[in-house]
Amino acid sequence: MKLKGGEVDAVVIGAGFAGLYAVYRLRQMGLSHRAFEQGGGVGGTWYWNRYPGAGSDSESWVYSFTFSEELEQEWSWSCRFPGQAEILRYLEHVADRFDLRRSFDFNTRVTGAAYDEPSGLWTIKTQRDDEVRAKYLITAVGCLSAAQVPNIPGLDQFKGHWYHTGQWPHEGVDFTGKRVGVIGTGSSGIQSIPVIAKQAQHLTVFQRTPNFSVPARNATLSPERVNQIKRDIKKIREFCRWSTIGQPYDWQEAEALKVDPEERNQQFETAWQKGGFEWMFGSYRDLLFDKKANDMAADFVREKIRGVVNNPEVARKLIPTGYPIATKRLPLDTDYFETFNRDNVDLVDLRESPIEEVMATGLRTRDKSYELDAIVFATGFDALTGPLTRIDIRGRDGQKLEEKWSVGARTYLGVSTRGFPNMFMITGPGSPSVLGNMPVSIEQHVDWICECIAHLQKNGASTIEPTKDAEEKWVAHVQDLADATLFPQADSWYMGANIPGKPRVFMPYIGGFGTYRKLCADIAEKDYEGFTIT
Ligand code: NAP
Repeated sequence: MKLKGGEVDAVVIGAGFAGLYAVYRLRQMGLSHRAFEQGGGVGGTWYWNRYPGAGSDSESWVYSFTFSEELEQEWSWSCRFPGQAEILRYLEHVADRFDLRRSFDFNTRVTGAAYDEPSGLWTIKTQRDDEVRAKYLITAVGCLSAAQVPNIPGLDQFKGHWYHTGQWPHEGVDFTGKRVGVIGTGSSGIQSIPVIAKQAQHLTVFQRTPNFSVPARNATLSPERVNQIKRDIKKIREFCRWSTIGQPYDWQEAEALKVDPEERNQQFETAWQKGGFEWMFGSYRDLLFDKKANDMAADFVREKIRGVVNNPEVARKLIPTGYPIATKRLPLDTDYFETFNRDNVDLVDLRESPIEEVMATGLRTRDKSYELDAIVFATGFDALTGPLTRIDIRGRDGQKLEEKWSVGARTYLGVSTRGFPNMFMITGPGSPSVLGNMPVSIEQHVDWICECIAHLQKNGASTIEPTKDAEEKWVAHVQDLADATLFPQADSWYMGANIPGKPRVFMPYIGGFGTYRKLCADIAEKDYEGFTIT
């Protein structure tokens, strides 16, 4: 098919890691394209999440692109877990170095995309009334970009300022002398609470579910360490690609239930001192499959919390119970539990006394009123499906994506969904995505999608979409894998449980990054098995 004037081969939505790399690849392939980004610049997650303490939980040297050896060698990270500003600088550098900005319309939100059967083209509309037609629609909208502010009565009466961590003001917020309330103790709350506590006159943390957390033990990287990483980087990257969660470590062969208690405790302690996700995901392979094994890890952390928090009543409230450790996304922290020993920090347990309303001057729970100058909502996102269903995407016969997914996301490989031909989702639901190191998932998806598009172009094909059978089997497979783990036991955003009315379905593929990579490659090799190509 030949494209007419005003039409492009591909439209990309988003300018984070995924959108930047997609544009880079499309350009390399000589395909015409346009890209839209609702923010005023590149960065995606790192453009929006500017809250105090925001930063990566993956080690800097693997939380970055691998597609350019020059880029990899030129860029030096300052520390183990870089903060938001440094990651944003990196992505801006990538955009400039590869001249990617000129492909994007910034400050331009895509409002809708509709597939037109007769022409086989997508019509993409933006809030600026742009209308672009494209053969391929590539969504690079992120997994955690649809911010969720809970519907608490009275928020509109609040006389102070309120913020969501995922939509933080670019000029920053000065909490000096202010009485601040933070609602939420997920990763965003756990990163921001210690930093806000140091600045604010008083901080009240409103906690609904206590969270496990592992120390990050962030540290600056010496020039020697940077050089050593650069020397070894190819090997490190290759390991990540085939590992379970895209990180430079993997599950051990040993099982927690089969080693003696002393050895187990020693292993937990050594890894705890090292810090980072490795404490969990470089540990015993049964931790996420066997509740008894999981309890051993959970008890270790509970003991650590008791050891850090001076007030036993506060410690009791902070200690997580009722769900297995790491079945809600495990945060990393810097002095999170220590923060509750400060004189200017209080903890409110919302399970004992839920929030009833926001007043003009603060917040009221069932038992008490709290005077506040500012409220921070660290209340999370409509994960994975939200960024897609918030766009009015319509496939064949005008079917709305939101409607199709009203019973839970249905995809094949998390990259495509039946009835939406030539639409490719980078790290969509049903792919490993959020279960590990995002840039690894993103690069694998973009490479696979671009090779698929090259295949279609070469063969003069018009459309690709999954068969009904392949999609149904994939959805069932994703579910079966999750059901074999402890993950469904938690009310997590992985399960959609944080959004009222969202179907309770485990969304990401949990079979491991390496396994998934191989599966995708095999499917492409077998002439895109499970897809119909016309
Ligand atoms: P989150 O993990 O969903 O945590 C939201 C918190 O807000 C939870 O404690 C939740 O309580 C609470 N909450 C939600 N609605 C509430 C309500 N109506 N009343 C009271 N409390 C409420 O969100 P997040 O912390 O923004 O993190 C989301 C994900 O983003 C992370 O899991 C991670 O994948 C990613 N992230 C990554 C980094 C990093 O890599 N460094 C940093 C930040 C975020 P319940 O648990 O009871 O629902």
